[in-house]
Amino acid sequence: MIMGIASGKGGTGKTTVAVSLAAAMGEKVNLLDCDVEEPNAHLFLKTQHKESKIVKVMIPKVDEELCNGCGECSSFCQYNAIITPGPKPVVFAELCHGCGGCALVCPKKAISETQKRIGTIEISEGDDITLIQGKLDIGVAMAPPLIRSVKAHLNSHDVSIIDSPPGTSCPVITAIRGCDFVLLVTEPTPFGLNDLKLAVDMVRNLGVNFGVIVNRHGIGDNRIHDFCKANGISILLEIPDDREIAEAYSRGESVVEALPHYRRAFEGLASSIRGMLLNRGE
Ligand code: SF4
Ligand code: SF4
Repeated sequence: MIMGIASGKGGTGKTTVAVSLAAAMGEKVNLLDCDVEEPNAHLFLKTQHKESKIVKVMIPKVDEELCNGCGECSSFCQYNAIITPGPKPVVFAELCHGCGGCALVCPKKAISETQKRIGTIEISEGDDITLIQGKLDIGVAMAPPLIRSVKAHLNSHDVSIIDSPPGTSCPVITAIRGCDFVLLVTEPTPFGLNDLKLAVDMVRNLGVNFGVIVNRHGIGDNRIHDFCKANGISILLEIPDDREIAEAYSRGESVVEALPHYRRAFEGLASSIRGMLLNRGE
């Protein structure tokens, strides 16, 4: 079972939910921190470092002796990562997605590939939780290939929880594609509703089962509930706006660890998701 935790914007408590759910599963869990620009699940876990890996992607390298300047490579590249402003193409490695297409279309076989480091994967282990954390190098804007490298550690034996990046763009889609279930974490405010609507469109377009968690319940209004009711969306958990949760967060403690009375709520969440997937035959 692969569960994704997502939110239309940052700061809604996505990681709090991911870590607490992992701790409440009651079995072996792989927690994949795919929020690779700012991974922070490790702050709330007592895991021991096991392994580090450097992640590289292939980027094109042009042999100017072979190149005839035809520009086919530039026409092919959707990301403007290789352009031909003069007689020979220029590669912008930071824009390249490493698809290898430019090399395939080059009629002169003038493009080979070279490796570029984009970030790291850190693997650490606790009692029941294995944390696989991706971290982009500073100044690198290539989250999707790093997220794919983190997701390559998914295995079919254990429950996996993916803490996705915030938003609704490419990195999030890369993170949650293939999940059995996605939890959309939001706050009961007008901004929260706006971002939730975008996130709902995203998961519906991907065809992924999903439910909503309302964090800091009590701070705003009922718009999230009204929207969910009108659109047949299940609210699976409401986490109150509790000062004790904020204090636990600031101490780097997961909610279920610091405040055991919340454990039951997260255990209930885990069994609700299992039940929903079972009913759908997944
Ligand atoms: S490898 Fe793909 S993304 Fe990179 S320059 Fe070539 S076509 Fe563009
Ligand atoms: S497609 Fe090949 S030959 Fe044409 S400009 Fe690009 S590298 Fe040069």
